Amino acid sequence: MNAPVLVINCGSSSIKYALIDSDPEAPRLAGLAERLGSPDARLKGKNSSGESFTQPLPDADHTQALNAILERMEGRVPGAVGHRIVHGGEHFTQAALIDDSVINAIETTAALAPLHNPANLAGVAATQSVFPTLPQVAVFDTAFHQTMPPRAYRYALPESLYAEHGIRRYGFHGTSHAFVSQRAGELSTRGAGGWLTAHLGNGCSTSAVFNNQSLDTSMGLTPLEGLVMGTRSGDVDPGLHAHLHRQLGWTLDKIDSVLNKESGLLGLSGLTNDMREIEEAAEQGHPTAQLAMEVFCYRIAKSLAALSCALPQLDGVIFTGGIGENSPIVRRNVLALLPHFGFALDDSANEATIRGKEGCLDSDGHQGPQVWVIPTDEEGRIAMETRHCLEARL
Ligand code: AMP
Repeated sequence: MNAPVLVINCGSSSIKYALIDSDPEAPRLAGLAERLGSPDARLKGKNSSGESFTQPLPDADHTQALNAILERMEGRVPGAVGHRIVHGGEHFTQAALIDDSVINAIETTAALAPLHNPANLAGVAATQSVFPTLPQVAVFDTAFHQTMPPRAYRYALPESLYAEHGIRRYGFHGTSHAFVSQRAGELSTRGAGGWLTAHLGNGCSTSAVFNNQSLDTSMGLTPLEGLVMGTRSGDVDPGLHAHLHRQLGWTLDKIDSVLNKESGLLGLSGLTNDMREIEEAAEQGHPTAQLAMEVFCYRIAKSLAALSCALPQLDGVIFTGGIGENSPIVRRNVLALLPHFGFALDDSANEATIRGKEGCLDSDGHQGPQVWVIPTDEEGRIAMETRHCLEARL
């Protein structure tokens, strides 16, 4: 299929979009409709010559926003729509052409992602009303991790919770881990070997990928498990919920909200969830920012070390996401905690590889496991999976 793919990532009050050509060099049209359903609703984006625009869309709903997005396509007609769907449960191991049975299956998994799947499905319905004849494909955040073996995905809980309620580890950020590990395999002499991937953005997760298959990952049943994130705690003692309830009288909703929205870098620093600001404050000697940085990096290193157990061989580590792509300090701190892995970071390559650059950060002639920075491209991966899904059906 040569026509562009329209990639849609629909939240409860937002639609992120990108129109992606089959030619990777072709300019992308991309943007974000936000604050939908409010008087401040608006569409922000870039046209093909790279100029930014902001268009007010007062009180627009998802369908009206999609119509406004359609008018920004500059006459390019998409041949398909690829939807990012957060949770595919165990049902979806790869992208799926959307029909009634796929929608039913996504609805069934909504209990596992009550904030995300219903919003994603609202996006599918709105897109179907605006583009009734276009094929629509669901691409799942969880699908890439469906290759994890039971030892990695099972919690040590009563069997019935897994068998009857699907309580297991699923993992997220699948399109990102898949994209960067595949890209490293193309760029590196090591090929599709054993890679540890670290997606470090507002949400953070690590993954162990061997031969393009995920063998383990740090996120679990929900995207709260694992690393310290912008506002999410990551791993805590599972006894914490009962303790906070008994000692402080907190409700489950309050605990859930604190762990998801008030913790992580924000909770530790008491200042901000933004790594750039943490770095600045730490540099100025702010103790809570220094602590936030230390805990953040230590937990990444600990997670990478743990995930290395999943790999038969270690060919390298890949940093991606807003922090992974732009923070030489975080990369240096994390690698300094893994001296026994035999990485050899070249400081000047580390400093220079920021703002969308990709590359290997190794010292010259290094033979051990490699260090790579690969800017993620989740939209590009969704477009590619959409094409593959449709081509496989021809
Ligand atoms: P993402 O969710 O992938 O967009 O990543 C957002 C995170 O990347 C935020 O914590 C930002 O502070 C962080 N980030 C973006 N640019 C930089 C930078 N130049 N240095 C450090 N962190 C950055």
